[in-house]
This record gives sequence, C-alpha cells and structure tokens, in this order.
Amino acid sequence: MKTALLLGAGGLGCPAALALAEAKADLRLVIVDPDRVERSNLARQILYADEDVGAFKAEVAARRVGGEARVARFDATTAAGLLRGADVILDGTDDFATRFLANDEALRRGIPLVHGAALGWQGLLVTILPGQTGCLRCLFEAPPGQAPTCAEAGVLAALCGLVGVAMAGAALAVLRGESDGAGFLHRWDALRGTHRPLLLKRDPNCAACALAASYEPKELTSCL
Ligand SMILES: [Zn+2]
Repeated sequence: MKTALLLGAGGLGCPAALALAEAKADLRLVIVDPDRVERSNLARQILYADEDVGAFKAEVAARRVGGEARVARFDATTAAGLLRGADVILDGTDDFATRFLANDEALRRGIPLVHGAALGWQGLLVTILPGQTGCLRCLFEAPPGQAPTCAEAGVLAALCGLVGVAMAGAALAVLRGESDGAGFLHRWDALRGTHRPLLLKRDPNCAACALAASYEPKELTSCL
C-alpha cells in the first residue's frame, strides 16, 4: 500500500485529507501537524468542531479520515523520520521556511511533492517530480522575506477547499503514475474566476534540483 504524507492539517490539509478519504483511495495517510485546534480555525478547517478546540489537529484529523497522526513539526530534525516510506508528500503548511525545507527534502530523497497555497483570492498548486520538473527554488531560489501570511492577508475558506481538493487529486495522479499536470504552476484567481497553468521552468543552476534523486515510480498502482 502506498503512503501519502500530509504536512499541515489546516485550511488546505483538512479538505485534502477529507477528499482522499471520500475518494476511498487505497492508501495509508499520515497527517503531520504540531498545533492544537483553535476556535478561529473552525471556519475553514473543516475537520474540526467546537468540541475539538484544544485537541491536537493531527489526532482529530486522523480520527475523522482514518489516517495516522504525527503530532510533530516538520523541520530539519524530524524530516528524515517523517519522510521514511512516503510515496508522495502533500504540503499544506503555511510558512515559507517549512515549504522550502519540504521542497529540498523531497528532492533529495526522490519523493514527489504536491505543494498547495492559498492567500486572499489566490490559490496555487504545483506538483514537483524530483529530477524531472522544476521546483520551488527554481521559482524563488530562497523564501521570500516580505510575503504576508494568511493571518495578515486573510484567506477565503471556500478557496482552501478548492486548492485542498486539487492537492488530493494531484497526489492520486502521481500515485497512478500520471505526470501530465506535474511541473505546472496552477494559479486560480477566484476574484476573476480564472485558472492559469504556467510551466514551472527548471533553472539549470538550481541548488535543490542539482541534489535531486531522480524520481522513479516503483510500481504503478491504482489507488482509485
Ligand atoms: Zn529546482
């Protein structure tokens, strides 16, 4: 059975986990999040209810969708242990340091990464196949210093649902060995009602891609 590792059980992680469960995908879902449910989360973090306030998100989410919980922060000290055995990573974390660490660790270990983000009316999704497609560092090189956080800029709950479900779909596509959508930066502008896929160009000087272990789908399975 394939293993999907979900980083972040927040605005994107909740709908992504729910979609994987509703799809009855034949996979092991491991949910990583260090935080507890807060009342302000409830509007867009759809796996949690009033009675979950104060409980660990990873544990509540895992119980709701039939996954495994890891109450942990994904950082340089925990990455190796958390990534062991992962066949695909879904990154729904909300800070740039963690996103770039996930990018670098996924590439180094040859694990496909589905990265999602939502801010204001903008949603973003990219599937990175190590050694085959561009990566976050091809795009930005380093975490941008001044980008506003979700807390500062706000985010639409419904947009989180859209991006989270798309992350689940992209992860299942990777596990089926379908790579058509990989390497494109999918951008939704919900205010204009538009979606644009842009090719994420590989930077020949990218430090993370230079260290990438090539992604070889082991054996293709039909999870769905
Ligand atoms: Zn790169």
